[in-house]
This record gives sequence, structure tokens and C-alpha cells, in this order.
Amino acid sequence: MFNITMNEFTQYLPDEVTMRRFAKHLAQIVMAQASPRAVVIYLHGDLGAGKTTFTRGMIQGLGFAGNVKSPTYTLVEEYQIADKAIYHFDLYRLASPEELEYMGIRDYFDKGAICILEWPEKGGELLPSADLELFLDYVDDARSLRAVAQTELGHQIISEL
Ligand code: ADP
Ligand code: MG
Repeated sequence: MFNITMNEFTQYLPDEVTMRRFAKHLAQIVMAQASPRAVVIYLHGDLGAGKTTFTRGMIQGLGFAGNVKSPTYTLVEEYQIADKAIYHFDLYRLASPEELEYMGIRDYFDKGAICILEWPEKGGELLPSADLELFLDYVDDARSLRAVAQTELGHQIISEL
């Protein structure tokens, strides 16, 4: 049964090290879900709030040793970690939602993939809806993160945090 009171989780992140540690923790929980379809995570927050830093923390936290660069111009970067595809999108520079059509957006949301999206609001209706939405906010030099579950799967992830 979907419990609305367990729908949200808030975490204070005093510095980047703490953010990366929390991102790794979340990534390990997401990775462990036996989901037959893609896990979709939306990242919200102003420029510099830490969306890319958080994603980098997730991907490197899962053991990826390489560089995780912002997909600002490429729109998407792909990582392969232990049989799982992880797609990191940044749709800030998307000219129009139709551009997703040309990218073959549906192929990215294959079974088993983990899809992390910065600026999902630019994607329009072609984007699959989120399981989990993460909202990053400035608190002076620190940040706070609010996680909101939008599906049963998202709820499961939050309950394990
Ligand atoms: P976004 O992708 O949201 O535009 P970035 O992750 O690219 O943001 O940039 C976040 C910036 O904020 C980085 O320069 C990072 O070093 C800095 N920063 C300062 N304090 C924190 C914190 N508490 N958590 C995460 N990043 C922080
Ligand atoms: Mg970014």
C-alpha cells in the first residue's frame, strides 16, 4: 500500500563531500532494485545547486573510475556499470521537445536502465514520468535535498534511505 506520509525525505548537505556520500548511498539503493523497467530520476535545482555534482557522486559512487562530465552540450552521457546502463541527461540546451524524438529518446528508457535527468522540465510530454524527484536548494554555502517519490518504486527507494 502506498503510504503518503513516507513519500518525502529531506537531507541537509553541508558540503560537497557529504553530497557525494549521500549520492553514493542513494545510487546503491537504486542499483539494487529489481525493476523490470527503467528507474527514472528527475533532478531539479537552480544553476550551481549541485545536480551534476550529485549525479557524478552517484556514478562514481557505483565504482565508475572515469570522468563524469556534464552533458550540457551532448544532452546525454552513457555509463555502463555492472551490466546496467546509466544515462545522465542535461536538457537545459534542448531547443524543443521534438529534438528528443530525433535522439531516439525511447531507446534510452529500456528495461533495467537508470535514467538521471537534469532540467527535465525542458523535455515536455515525450519524457517518461519520474519515479523519484530530487530537489536541490541552496542553504548559504550548503545545500539541502528533498526527495519525493512519484511511484511505488520511488517510494521503495525512499523507504530504504
Ligand atoms: P548544477 O548541475 O546544478 O548546475 P553543479 O553540480 O555543476 O550544479 O555545480 C555545483 C557547484 O556547487 C560545484 O562547483 C560545487 O563545488 C559547489 N558546491 C558548493 N557547496 C556544495 C555542496 N554543499 N554540495 C554540492 N556542491 C557544492
Ligand atoms: Mg548541471
